[in-house]
Formats: sequence, structure tokens, C-alpha cells
Amino acid sequence: MRKYRLMNFTDKTVLVTGGSRGIGRAIAQGFAARGARVAIVYRDNKAAADEALAGFDGEGHIAIAADVADADAVEQSVNSIVETFGKLDVLVNNAGIGIYHPLPESSYEAWQDAWQQTLQTNLIGPANLCFCAARKMMESGGGRIINISSRGAYRGEPIKPAYGASKAALNSLTQSLAIALAPHKIYVAAVAPGFVNTELSAKRLGGAEGAEIKAQSPFNRVAEPEEVAHAVFFLASEGAEFSSGTIIDVNGASYFR
Ligand code: NDP
Repeated sequence: MRKYRLMNFTDKTVLVTGGSRGIGRAIAQGFAARGARVAIVYRDNKAAADEALAGFDGEGHIAIAADVADADAVEQSVNSIVETFGKLDVLVNNAGIGIYHPLPESSYEAWQDAWQQTLQTNLIGPANLCFCAARKMMESGGGRIINISSRGAYRGEPIKPAYGASKAALNSLTQSLAIALAPHKIYVAAVAPGFVNTELSAKRLGGAEGAEIKAQSPFNRVAEPEEVAHAVFFLASEGAEFSSGTIIDVNGASYFR
């Protein structure tokens, strides 16, 4: 029987995009608490990134300001992380945006802008990160990639359709790369949360539809960021290799696909 170092990431190096706030911060913090050296990528809120870093256990963690929608910035970030840490073991594609653009009320210009921005940040950015990270992982003998998707990929997103489409495409990317990268010992999977208690969802949760959103789950609440992070740690852990290609739902039984 094999013995596993359950949920222990000592000597591992981890990149979490959007690791300065919300779900990404809980993921980065949890990896640090389990022994990993962590690099977080954020867009422009340096104060939040500095605050997050200061709260991580252990030493040697770094924060990089880069827009994941910028292909050159993505490449430079991955290169500088590998130069600093010597290798990259785990990539968590967590950074994402959700822009409201309900079809009946949006101008054609706003509609196009929402699609461009959302796909660039939620799909093309993660695809580029997968490319740059996987090339490094291939050189070092393997790794893990975990993409943060959404329940919206399955249930639909009527007021932000580009968001739902970007996450459905991210699921497909996850599955394609799980097959393509298996021979290189790179294991690729996704986590699809329902509503989570973060700034991204705060406005809706605090508004008129807050009670209805909570009632979607029989637990009558939304997830905490740490509950999403828990699934990420499983997928990154030794022993989860054969779960490559899976998409774990963390939606409090609010939607079954
Ligand atoms: P938050 O809005 O709370 O945090 C977003 C994080 O991503 C911040 O660190 C932000 O950096 C960073 N970020 C955003 N855009 C970019 C970019 N272009 N380049 C680099 N960094 C960027 O998000 P959540 O924690 O709520 O969401 C995290 C992920 O989980 C997303 O992919 C989201 O789609 C997904 N998700 C969230 C749900 C929810 O209910 N909250 C439900 C289902 C899925 P900065 O602060 O500098 O802007």
C-alpha cells in the first residue's frame, strides 16, 4: 500500500492568480500554512496583496502585479517565479472577473466590451498561464494545474452570459489539457464553486436577491472561500493524480449537473 503525505506541500512551489483577495487568498494562505512557497499574482490592488502576504505562514512568498489578460505579463510572471523559486509545482488559475451585460438592457458596444474583457481574463489568460507553466513543469518532471471554474458554466448566467461561457470553456480547456499533459505527469483539474462569500459576489448577496441566493442551497447559505480552497488542496495533493480531468462542484448541493 502506498503512503501519502496528505495535504502537505512542504518543498512545493505554488502560483495562485488573484491570490490577494477572496477565494485566491484563502487558497494561497492554505498552501503557505501547509508548507509551500507561494507566489500570488494580482492586478492592481497592491495594498490587498501586501496585506495577504503579511498574513501567510512561513517565509519567501512573493506577490507580482500582472494582468493575466496580458500575454507578455503572464510569460514574464511565470519566468520570474521559476527564477526565484527554482521551479513551479502547482498553478492555480483563480483570477477572474464577472461583468454584468444582460442582453435586453445592454448596448451593442457594452455587450462586445463585456465579451472581450471576460474571455481575455477568464479564458485566454488562464490558457496562456497553462502554456507557460506547463512548459516549465515539463522541464522539471511534472506538476499540477487547477482551474477555478463556476457553477455558472452549467446553470447559465443570464445577466453575465460571457462569464458562464468563459467558465464552460475553461472546463473544456481543463479536460483537453488533462489528456494532453498526462504523459508529462502534469495533472489538470478544476473546481466549480456556486456562490462564495467574497467581494465579487458581495453586492448581490447584500442586495434584494441575497436571501434567494442563499436559499438555492439546502444549507441556506453560500460557501466560504476556505471551502473552495479545500477542494484545491485535494487536487494538488499526492494521491489525487488519477482525478486528473475532474471538475469538483463546491456548491452546497444547490445544483446537480
Ligand atoms: P475577487 O473579486 O474577490 O478577487 C479577484 C482576485 O483576482 C483579486 O486578487 C484580483 O486582483 C485578481 N484579478 C482580477 N482580475 C485580474 C487580472 N486581470 N489579472 C490579475 N489578477 C486579477 O474574486 P473571487 O475570489 O470571488 O473569485 C475568484 C475566482 O472564483 C474567479 O475566477 C471567479 O470567477 C470564481 N468564482 C467566484 C464565485 C463567487 O461567488 N465569488 C463563484 C464561482 C466562481 P486585484 O485585487 O488587484 O484586482
